[in-house]
Amino acid sequence: MSASAEGLCLFNTLTRRKEKFTPLEEGKVGMYTCGPTVYDFAHIGNFRAFLFEDLLKRWLEYRGYKVTHVMNLTDVDDKTIRGSQKQGVPLGEFTKLYAEAFFEDIKALNVKPATVYPRATEHIPEMVNLVKTLMAKGYAYTAQDGSIYFAISKFPAYGQLSHINVQELKAGARVKTDEYAKEEAQDFALWKAWTPEDGDVYWKTDLGKGRPGWHIECSAMSMRYLGETFDIHCGGIDNMFPHHENEIAQSEAATGKKFVRYWLHNEHLQVEGKKMAKKLGNYYTLRDLLQKGYDPIAIRYLLLSTHYRQQFNFTFEGLEAAKGAVERLRNCVRRLQDADGEGGGQVAELLRGVQTGFGGAMDDDLNISVALGALFDFVREVNNLLDSGEVSRSEAEATGRFMADLDQVLGVIGKVEAEALPEGAEKLIAEREEARKAKDWATADALRIKLKEMGVVVEDTAHGVRWRLEQK
Ligand code: AMP
Ligand code: ZN
Repeated sequence: MSASAEGLCLFNTLTRRKEKFTPLEEGKVGMYTCGPTVYDFAHIGNFRAFLFEDLLKRWLEYRGYKVTHVMNLTDVDDKTIRGSQKQGVPLGEFTKLYAEAFFEDIKALNVKPATVYPRATEHIPEMVNLVKTLMAKGYAYTAQDGSIYFAISKFPAYGQLSHINVQELKAGARVKTDEYAKEEAQDFALWKAWTPEDGDVYWKTDLGKGRPGWHIECSAMSMRYLGETFDIHCGGIDNMFPHHENEIAQSEAATGKKFVRYWLHNEHLQVEGKKMAKKLGNYYTLRDLLQKGYDPIAIRYLLLSTHYRQQFNFTFEGLEAAKGAVERLRNCVRRLQDADGEGGGQVAELLRGVQTGFGGAMDDDLNISVALGALFDFVREVNNLLDSGEVSRSEAEATGRFMADLDQVLGVIGKVEAEALPEGAEKLIAEREEARKAKDWATADALRIKLKEMGVVVEDTAHGVRWRLEQK
């Protein structure tokens, strides 16, 4: 696919600008994406984030980069502890169920696996070391309850990502919960001293008996696998504050180096104008939709097909339209499989056009809606040429190769099987052939009508009789 003149540009939340993407190391990309908190089945809003990240990774790979993708699993935090206690099962058993469900779900959605999926509970020593460094450097202190906090007043760059006004912050005021609003920006917990509410969830470490805060988990795990400075960090826009702001503060204070070069945030999937969220109760899990009979690939298409920085509303009409779009792509590929027309030389030009259109749009901060627009224009033109028998075998093969190539990025077409005729249709087609040979046109026409009623369209071409299933 031809690259645009500028090459790949990505919108960096840190600068609020589209920037030309140049990785730290030529040809390689280190990418960290905040993974699921495994306290419940993920909802399709979460999957919007994971699918945007999948598209980004696939596009980087398409452009020739070798991507090291790290996605953590948050398997200890306020929500997982509360959830396990509510169900009365040990934390590990509780999170295992949802971690397994997550892997099943991303497989169904054809998400390419990350290079590594670190679990927070398996990286406590890295977190402890990071907190110890912060204490040694004077960025962290122990409060009366034994918990350790990050002193935001010691880190003048605090607020650089979320653009909060640090002047208004109350120095020394503390917040211990993992999630809080911008207005509550305060010193946040790096290490939470054990309290009876934590039950049997604690680690005995040099920092005392307790557990890590959520934010330190992602700093420790990302730097463990990608180094102190890496290329790309993604997450939903709700994670920008406090989670990512705090990640920057902890990491940069500890290392003295830039933490992340490009921050990318996806906007929310909404329901009737509100963020789809567990706490609002306005959500569908992937499982809910699969139970209703929806195809996971149609869901993948729906969640991918709006530009990641645009909010969009989930609707069932949208899901039906997504199903139709996937079918249109598959039908085109199917028709190409047995195209054997005259070939008028127009396909090469169409291919050049779509490669420029699709590639240029994707290089422009993954502008998928424009890219898909170019693709569907192309499909329409190719279908027209197929209708008039103007696609030769070699042109069909070149187009098929292009579609397969493109599907490395979209992941929605898959392997398209040749269509099977409905029962009895083959016999009717043969009878119609006999009737035509005998010049019994009335019988041949009657059989054609009968086949059409079965959804089979027969066409008499210069190369013999062809059939196809009518598009729904
Ligand atoms: P969580 O499991 O809550 O940590 O969230 C996993 C990912 O989903 C994070 O990147 C969130 O920012 C993202 N996310 C949560 N809700 C939505 C939503 N409605 N639309 C898009 N992304 C979301
Ligand atoms: Zn994170």
